[in-house]
Amino acid sequence: MQFKDIVGQTVMANRLTEIIDSGRVSHTQLFLGETASGSLAMAIAYAQYLNCEHRQHYGEAGPDGLRADSCGECPSCKKYQQLSHSDLHLYFPYAATATVKGTSISAADFQSEFREFLNAKHQCGTLDEWYEFMQIENKQGQIRERDADDIVRTLGMKSYEGGNKVVIIWMAEKMTVQPANKILKSLEEPTPNTLIILVAESSEKMLSTIISRTQLVKIPSLRENGRTASPEFRNLYVTWMRQLFKLNMASLSAWVDTMHDKSREVQKQFLLFAQESIRDSFLRNNAGLPSHIDFGDEKFNASFPTMITERNIEKINDAINDAIFAVERNAYGKIVFMELSFRISKALKKR
Ligand SMILES: [Zn+2]
Repeated sequence: MQFKDIVGQTVMANRLTEIIDSGRVSHTQLFLGETASGSLAMAIAYAQYLNCEHRQHYGEAGPDGLRADSCGECPSCKKYQQLSHSDLHLYFPYAATATVKGTSISAADFQSEFREFLNAKHQCGTLDEWYEFMQIENKQGQIRERDADDIVRTLGMKSYEGGNKVVIIWMAEKMTVQPANKILKSLEEPTPNTLIILVAESSEKMLSTIISRTQLVKIPSLRENGRTASPEFRNLYVTWMRQLFKLNMASLSAWVDTMHDKSREVQKQFLLFAQESIRDSFLRNNAGLPSHIDFGDEKFNASFPTMITERNIEKINDAINDAIFAVERNAYGKIVFMELSFRISKALKKR
């Protein structure tokens, strides 16, 4: 995972690469935030950047405002991209399934399944989606003592490839008291060149003794309103609306490809943002209310709202709702966004 492939987290990504570049990497970190907003993806991108042999520094002109990113090409990056690096150790909650059961099951039994899940969901899948993927019915997943033993053992070993060993524990709040106590000592007495990242959505159920031993990295939620929507969302939106107005097919299909590559959750969040933006423009144009969304482009701020009138607002709104519905049902991204683009483009001409 490269930072450029995570939407909406540029500010945090820049902070993280800066920390690594300055050599102030803390041995144990807690990435706190919703998985759907990219907290696990950020942890993996962070580990990939740490181990990259040719870190890219962009200065002012990086993609989406990124100051730096991993190269994606070196041997370490290639293994990270496939989640197959032998010094990347992933732990997560799980429960017995129809085929993997018994008292001795551990995270080791679900490694390939978990990687499949991460790939399918662009590393932004939620815990519920993981349980659904595992088909564990109504059982609750856990991180068990057996896994804690494995984590301690892993931390005590030398790295396979000579670089940094990385242990990522996803949904660390699903670790019960006994396993959590077992890894405490490892958190406290780091072995050299080892990074432990706990990824959690809520710290409430975690032991305070664990939290106090970690450095907190708060991953901002993407479920924000337009006022604070990410620069990426605003850029994607402004570019899109301009293309729809002119209906430039070449650049529109490039835009559609970009959206297709995002995770479903990010696609949905973007569509919700687009919907809110359209409503904002309508209110500003027709009800004389002040706009609360700054698109970061003065010309667009001034001219776009006049495009949204009572003759097209409903059509656009319906089209976006249909797209959200389709995304939630795993429809093919390219078709969803292309069809939506045509519908909005048509509606914009009927103002
Ligand atoms: Zn690299």
